[in-house]
Amino acid sequence: MSDTPTIAIVGSGPIGSAYARVLLESVPAARVIMFEAGPQLTERPGESVRNIADPDEKARARERSQGPQAGTFRESLGIPGGTVVEGMFTARQGTHLLDFGGEGSAHAPSFPAAAAATNVGGQGAHWTCAIPRPAFSEKLDFVGDDEWEDLISTAEDLLHKQSAAFSDSPVGAAIRSLLDREFGAELPEGYGVSTLPVAGDPQPDGSMRWAGADTVLGPLIEPGTDTAARFELRDLTLVRRLEHDGAHVRGVTVEDLRTGEGSFVTADVVVVAADAFRSPQLLWASGIRPAPLGRYLTEHQVVISTVALDEGRMSALVTDDELEAELARRAVNPTDPVAAVNRIPFSEPGHPYSAQIMYAETPPFPLAADHPAHGNRWGYVNMGFGIRKFPRVEDGVTFVDDELDYRGMPNFTIEYALTEREEEEIAEATERLRRAGEALGSFVAGPRLLPNGSSLHFMGTMRTGTDAETSVADPYSRVWGFDNLVVGGNALIPTANTMNPTLMSVAIAVRGARRLAADLGGARP
Ligand code: FAD
Repeated sequence: MSDTPTIAIVGSGPIGSAYARVLLESVPAARVIMFEAGPQLTERPGESVRNIADPDEKARARERSQGPQAGTFRESLGIPGGTVVEGMFTARQGTHLLDFGGEGSAHAPSFPAAAAATNVGGQGAHWTCAIPRPAFSEKLDFVGDDEWEDLISTAEDLLHKQSAAFSDSPVGAAIRSLLDREFGAELPEGYGVSTLPVAGDPQPDGSMRWAGADTVLGPLIEPGTDTAARFELRDLTLVRRLEHDGAHVRGVTVEDLRTGEGSFVTADVVVVAADAFRSPQLLWASGIRPAPLGRYLTEHQVVISTVALDEGRMSALVTDDELEAELARRAVNPTDPVAAVNRIPFSEPGHPYSAQIMYAETPPFPLAADHPAHGNRWGYVNMGFGIRKFPRVEDGVTFVDDELDYRGMPNFTIEYALTEREEEEIAEATERLRRAGEALGSFVAGPRLLPNGSSLHFMGTMRTGTDAETSVADPYSRVWGFDNLVVGGNALIPTANTMNPTLMSVAIAVRGARRLAADLGGARP
């Protein structure tokens, strides 16, 4: 290995960024080149678009992230005009459906809501920033408790975890009291109703500066730092292929999407963190095709509802002055709809769900003027229960060589089905959601199961594990059989997981990066 190793990172989301940060901080001579297929949206690379105050600018940043569904921006993103026909359905702002229905679309009839983001910062420029810790069987069984604690707290530091965010909100506290009355006695010690940890930095005016990949990159994007001098980010650069001999990667073949020019970049180590579908796609395109690649796909199913908070119950816990003060604080940043965020965490055996309860002054859809909950002074909660999907080899993504996607990469089909086991837990979670809604007020939108793929938390397609027959990567995230190819992202999570996965994926990345740093002769950061 060279004394000044070059590390190529594919993908600029939170996971690629965690690799860049840990490696550059621990290996003094290393250099990182990060390749990102999408455009840089903000001056500070990878910043959350939720921090953009101007609504037009925010909308523009979101649209530019939408790859084949980017409308008028498509050609400027290196996607040939005319070859892509827009599908009938669109994804959440900032993301694009994988099965968008046009030419070069993936096929996902049983996983229709699956979406991705293509921009510097990846989905991490659009995420909600909830970072609960995985618990019980959600964790990796091959990492000891002490190491796990260290990995998770390092990941929380990288993401700027705030467990106290909105904890001073009297409305949030009242919501917790009402939920605790309903569920408290059933929940184990330490896993009761609580605030949901989020990633970001509270500002003096009471608003949040939400975390993105920029937060994780930290000093790497601060001009003048030692690590910034060794870090290079190339946006609108698609990695088409990893060049290798079956056991060792020599570098990457990339295409500059501004010019269409291709080139080869030599690397001593390659890290692929290009999301749970496009990472396995790149491995497949490069002829790296272990049997578990793309298999064991999971997400967490989601049952959601919206409730108007009950005036009688809320006013017994919150004074009028407190409500007015809260509304005034919220008015400082009207374009950010999220206020207090509460949760009931996953616990076994009694509560195998992650419930997220978000307070907002306005409903997520317009209510008719004569609707009884129209203009509810006490506001609304949007609630979601995350339900686990047990990994099965049958669920997953299959690639083909003779059909190309809109970027000219091997196209794919996703196959996914819920079994009786999941259906039972969905029914049970729906019942709990109903109880939660009745404890808080009246339903504006009753409990309903979202279509498969809606969670945007796709896991399992490049699992980490101790057995090469059932996993793509070893316990340090190295692709089995390769000495310098590492993978990262939610795709590594091998367990049935109900919670937002980014914190866990950053923790797994920290483990992989520390090991890689040690192999490169670095010191632990
Ligand atoms: P990504 O962030 O997806 O980044 C991958 C990047 O790789 C993309 O930018 C892509 O363009 C690039 N890429 C792909 N292929 C190539 C290629 N061949 N060459 C070059 N570049 C390539 N998670 C939570 O934990 N909590 C939440 O509250 C939460 N809320 C969310 C809300 C929304 C609306 C969305 C969209 C996501 C949310 N998530 C949440 C998910 C979270 O954003 C992801 O878990 C996280 O971004 C994954 O990071 P990543 O780096 O693995 O991948």
